[in-house]
Amino acid sequence: MKETIKSINPSNGEVIGEVLITSDNELSSKVSQAKSAFTQWRNIPIDVRVETISRAFESLASQQRDLARLMSMEMGKDAKRSSGEVSGVIHSAEYIANLVSDALKPLKQGPRTEIQFTPLGVAAIISPWNYPLAMAANLIIPALVAGNTVIFKPSEETPLVANEMVASLNEILPEHVLQIVHGKKELGQKLVKSDINLVAFTGSKDAGKDIMAKASSGLKRLIMELGGNDPMIVMSNADLDAAARFAVGSSFENAGQMCVSTERVYVDESVADDFVRKVTDVAMRYRVGSWDDRHANIGPIVNHAQYSKIKNHIKDATSKGAQLILGDDSHPAPFIGPTVITDIQPDMLIEKEETFGPIVAIATFAHIDDAINRANDSDYALGAVVFGGKGANNIANQLEAGMIGINRGVGGDGDSPWVGAKQSGFGYRGSVEGHRQFAQVKVVSK
Ligand code: NAD
Repeated sequence: MKETIKSINPSNGEVIGEVLITSDNELSSKVSQAKSAFTQWRNIPIDVRVETISRAFESLASQQRDLARLMSMEMGKDAKRSSGEVSGVIHSAEYIANLVSDALKPLKQGPRTEIQFTPLGVAAIISPWNYPLAMAANLIIPALVAGNTVIFKPSEETPLVANEMVASLNEILPEHVLQIVHGKKELGQKLVKSDINLVAFTGSKDAGKDIMAKASSGLKRLIMELGGNDPMIVMSNADLDAAARFAVGSSFENAGQMCVSTERVYVDESVADDFVRKVTDVAMRYRVGSWDDRHANIGPIVNHAQYSKIKNHIKDATSKGAQLILGDDSHPAPFIGPTVITDIQPDMLIEKEETFGPIVAIATFAHIDDAINRANDSDYALGAVVFGGKGANNIANQLEAGMIGINRGVGGDGDSPWVGAKQSGFGYRGSVEGHRQFAQVKVVSK
């Protein structure tokens, strides 16, 4: 009998549907089909590829509501957020496709030489569940515009919504240019080892390391957007209301399941009491509930393994002396209510690891250098934020991260790269340099 993956609604544990796990034979035939489709797709002029891809994503508009509903049911985010994610995917596709196309225009390099950006071949795109369509589309679009064909492995938590999106796109895209495969980690590993040329991955640091090792024998190209453990520093001269609103909003967004969510806050001890009170006031206004509860803004945790991990981080912190200011066990698993913890320490899991839950975890500092050292004392370095007045820029300059926010969240304007430093990334998307990572640089001299 063929193995399946059941998609489970985290709000109530009900099975919504299931998909067949792609077998070894199916995987190799899909790779062969992708290779043969590549020979045609790569020769279609890039502006025609851009137009086709844009039209395919626009066509999702007729299903926006259904896709958003399915996304909410599969991974728990509320209807408004799912709808926003689907709408973002639909409406940014043409914009992204054009940016990629512009970045891949040949460059004249002196009288004899042209630098070209040519397709790599078959791209494996492996994505997570927390933004299941956005994270996939962000990599699928540049890969296809560059002339590659794509084999897409969505997360095992969100296979149905991924299936729906791919089926719709494929009503417009040529055959076998975009294919989907289903499975867990093991299938991802087989895909990486298969005869593909590029792996564009969004997911955890540990999976990224395994992918890098498995891709090495074929020197496959890699783009890896990995996890984070983002710090926030609150200076004594910060606007404390704004800082508290940001700390809570950024810690609780998507039930804390966001790569750049604020995972740890270091606040100047001279303003710490005030800050914690303000944070707690804001946090208490958050409501827990399932995706179709209009008033809820913290949904369920995606699965029981992740729920247990978060609970374990809270227990570890309180057993080592941290104070639980807000939060209790009143919500049934896998819901976790708004949680505020103070007095976190560097040896606690909540400070060391990516917790991925709706928690504002706070420590105080007496000297700014201690805050900077603790902020930087991590293998992760995706984003980092500082709230403060005079001196904030100087602190920002000392923070180690791919993206920094000063009195705001991370993520630059326009076509900025989405990039992690240290073990939060290896290769990136966005910006001319990012788009070119989906192509092979070729120097042609006459
Ligand atoms: P995950 O790494 O467990 O899984 C991501 C995908 O990779 C899934 O499809 C999974 O089946 C597959 N996979 C897992 N192990 C693999 C392996 N060894 N080889 C090949 N494929 C493998 O991550 P997740 O739990 O789905 O997502 C949460 C993680 O993703 C968090 O760490 C979060 O910070 C990160 N994330 C990063 C970004 C970013 O832009 N940097 C964005 C979203 C999520």
